[in-house]
Amino acid sequence: CGIVAYKGSQDSIEVILKGLKRLEYRGYDSAGIAGFEYGKLVCCKKQGKVSELENKILEDQFSFDHGVGIGHTRWATHGEPNDKNAHPHLSQDGSLAIIHNGIIENYGSLKKELEIHGYEFASQTDTEVLVNFIHFIRESENLSTEEAFRLALKRVIGAYAVVMLSNTEPDYLFAARKGSPMVIGINQGEYFIASDATPIVEYTNEVIYLKESEIAIISSESYTIKNLDNAVQDPRIQTIDMEL
Ligand code: GLU
Repeated sequence: CGIVAYKGSQDSIEVILKGLKRLEYRGYDSAGIAGFEYGKLVCCKKQGKVSELENKILEDQFSFDHGVGIGHTRWATHGEPNDKNAHPHLSQDGSLAIIHNGIIENYGSLKKELEIHGYEFASQTDTEVLVNFIHFIRESENLSTEEAFRLALKRVIGAYAVVMLSNTEPDYLFAARKGSPMVIGINQGEYFIASDATPIVEYTNEVIYLKESEIAIISSESYTIKNLDNAVQDPRIQTIDMEL
């Protein structure tokens, strides 16, 4: 139900937890974060309040490198609210992590296809099917992560706001939306992604509202916005004036 992602030199866990709390008003049943620890993708997720996730992060002593991370509050649509079904979801091999708002309507048929190819699933969610579908396309068609992300999204039916991390490109954020909102905040050397501007406005008032069926690829040096047919779109930075 809520998405927050960060790339920059601040402590990404802190920025994300603060952002998730700002999105609490949207309602949710569980929360989670993912990032890199010593180059390995790790997740921490928990049913219940963001404050419970925060305690678990402290207990497990998570800290993320590469100044990048993704966080999510879930409103369950596929699979009951529990720790396993909470986001982020990793691909089976642990190389991709995704957060997702919305519903992948054709997840049942995609899941069957993936199971034929040996994929196993740890949750009941449509989201875990999506991340493994992206992985399958990348590996079976020998594509870059960006191409696999775009083509997989082109082939799914449904609504989504997604942000993905890949351990092959640890300084990238891959984001996309269709039917669910997404805002990108831009500041000197840092990027924020969120479901709405409330987690972003305390850091920057320069934002891009991602349009329907657009993808954003954010790296340390730059960002690019494309449509699902791979055509680069003009960045439309807006200045917002919002009271906290
Ligand atoms: N369909 C996904 C799930 O059930 C995402 C739900 C949401 O938008 O929070 O896990």
